[in-house]
Amino acid sequence: MQFDFRRTKIIFTVGPATESEEMLEKLIRLGVDVCRLNMAHANHEWTRDVVRRIRSVGERVGRQIAIMMDVKGPEIRTGDLSAPMELIPGEIFDFVVKPGAEGESDEEIRSVDVNYQNLINDIHVGDTVLVDNGLIQLKVLEKQRARIRCEVLSPGKLESRRHINLPGVKVNLPPLTEKDRRDVAVGVEEGVDLFALSFVREEGDIDLLRKLLRELESNAGIIAKIEDQLAVSNLDEIIQRSDGLMVARGDLGIECPYEELPIIQRRAVKTCLHLGKPVIIATHMLESMIQAPLPTRAEITDVANAVYEQGDCVMLSGETTVGKYPLECVEVLDRIARRIERSGGAGFADRIELTSDKARMLRSAVVMANELESSGLLVFTRHGHLATMLSALRPHRSPIFAFSGSTSTLRKLRLHWGIEPYALEFNSDPEVMVARALSILKKQEKIRKGDKLVVVSNIVVNDRLVDTVQMRFVE
Ligand code: PGA
Ligand code: MN
Repeated sequence: MQFDFRRTKIIFTVGPATESEEMLEKLIRLGVDVCRLNMAHANHEWTRDVVRRIRSVGERVGRQIAIMMDVKGPEIRTGDLSAPMELIPGEIFDFVVKPGAEGESDEEIRSVDVNYQNLINDIHVGDTVLVDNGLIQLKVLEKQRARIRCEVLSPGKLESRRHINLPGVKVNLPPLTEKDRRDVAVGVEEGVDLFALSFVREEGDIDLLRKLLRELESNAGIIAKIEDQLAVSNLDEIIQRSDGLMVARGDLGIECPYEELPIIQRRAVKTCLHLGKPVIIATHMLESMIQAPLPTRAEITDVANAVYEQGDCVMLSGETTVGKYPLECVEVLDRIARRIERSGGAGFADRIELTSDKARMLRSAVVMANELESSGLLVFTRHGHLATMLSALRPHRSPIFAFSGSTSTLRKLRLHWGIEPYALEFNSDPEVMVARALSILKKQEKIRKGDKLVVVSNIVVNDRLVDTVQMRFVE
């Protein structure tokens, strides 16, 4: 028997539309795997409340999902405005980097403050400045003391505290701001499972967060968000150093020429699969569903493409923070993923680089599962390594039933393609563990009598543990 399951994981971002206990319960029952907290819009009290609510709902429902805190990293924003400004093409407009020291200006020229003083040194004449998701486009004409004088190229309404993108400009902001550090400390206190770091530019940024997590005695995973050209040029090193990657298409599509975006996504997914790291495809997956109950044809195809590529996760942002149809969005992702997976993925996992004998043994287990048309790969894992290695091999036929005694391991495994995590008390006798695992799966109707399973376990031989791959019939 092959029970119906979804290999591609679903991440949703929690916000006003989904933060209630009732909504969280519905989402968890619908099968979301990871909840993202976007710290660009969260204070600490809300963060603590939401994390605790997710945990208590998970407890009640009997399904613990992973929680990923997304810290915002180096970000440049415009200052407060008393009223929105309508910028006109051809207009000369100033960004003031040091309010009060900007010197004399022509009365006619309008301006806005910027939260980053050094911008005037990082930016050059001729550079492009994009405000509010690339909506307003300007070109730098000249630099004057504390003013960056620009010409407006494409018009738009400028509101308070809008995000600024500077395509191709290396900004000298620290990878972790003071706010990020305070956010991370709260996340660690609340036992968050994963941290996503925004605007990662090089592998050293990951090391910095890793060091902070060590100091705070957290073993949470780190997801690198690639959002600009620098990250793309350091892609391989960044993937190697992190525990997973997010293709943050929102900012990436502004920082890079948009026709590059599909190419970058393919390369990022391919490299992650090659290196055996999980990868998340994020932003605008079902953007139209913020307002509408059904996806567009283009969105359906975009989601399908992510599933074909065999990325680990698809992610929802505005769709579940402020959207009108958060539950429908999850149903849509679930439906598309299951259908495309059944049609057989065209992924890149067969090109995975195997660097250890253990990994080669696991590949044999996957081959064995395919050959036997097995109903599942059963694996016992303390820290999750064996299970994530199996997932990286993309066993397209059989679910990976991963048993662990550690709740933090179990939650982190939700991020990985094809893994179904189960809690199991570890025992010194491996045979006892297999028996317990089988009885859990039988009770949940994931397997039944006559099924074939491939079990990755170890047995005791002359007081030593020996890795084994076994075929078992369910009795
Ligand atoms: P954000 O990151 O939603 O935190 O901006 C994702 C993206 O840029 O795509
Ligand atoms: Mn972003």
